[in-house]
Amino acid sequence: MIRVAPILLAIAYALIAYRFSVWRTNRELDARSTELADPELRAVTDRLARALGVRRIPVHIYEIDPVNGLAAPDGRIFITRGFYRKFRAGEVTAEEMASVIAHELGHVALGHARRRMIDFSGQNAVRTALMMVLGRFIPFVGAWIASLVASLLAAGLSRSDEYEADEYAAALLAKAGIGVGPQKTLLAKLEALTESRAGVAPAWLMSHPRTADRIAALEKLEARWDRRG
Ligand SMILES: [Zn+2]
Repeated sequence: MIRVAPILLAIAYALIAYRFSVWRTNRELDARSTELADPELRAVTDRLARALGVRRIPVHIYEIDPVNGLAAPDGRIFITRGFYRKFRAGEVTAEEMASVIAHELGHVALGHARRRMIDFSGQNAVRTALMMVLGRFIPFVGAWIASLVASLLAAGLSRSDEYEADEYAAALLAKAGIGVGPQKTLLAKLEALTESRAGVAPAWLMSHPRTADRIAALEKLEARWDRRG
């Protein structure tokens, strides 16, 4: 019992941290968001809705400046106020906004939004549990290895999530008749757009895209579709 107690404590801590994160995130999003009512964007989200066979896709504005799209654990899709401003200023087209919404829909459909929250709150617990186990067998470096394993695990998960959500978005955009083009042009713009004031929103909400790699992956996907004819 003495041996498993720390591990049980770590698991209990992770569960409580997860519950708290969900509660805090929902409260933050409820307090600082409104449903988007933009006829031009509504036209493109309606095309996505038709392709998905649903009545409509509600999109919310999250009142923060950093340019990003988010998928909440409860499945709601958010565009930040900063991103919407770029659209209103003509720096981003409606079709490019659709590609962001399609990408976030991918995170929801593939279950990432919920899992990512677990990653974030669970990462500390994994680290703690690993430290307790490894620290017992490998003194000194055990803690360091545990930390490394926990962060590699989380980084690997979030990176593969991005590629999967991109693939989902590409398929949806193709089906909606919008095509993969706007998705690629947006990715090319993304680096410049997100440069300013990063890190204001909670870290787990933000993706860390390597845009050149993501564009290359989309081109590979398109080549695969072409071969199948
Ligand atoms: Zn993403």
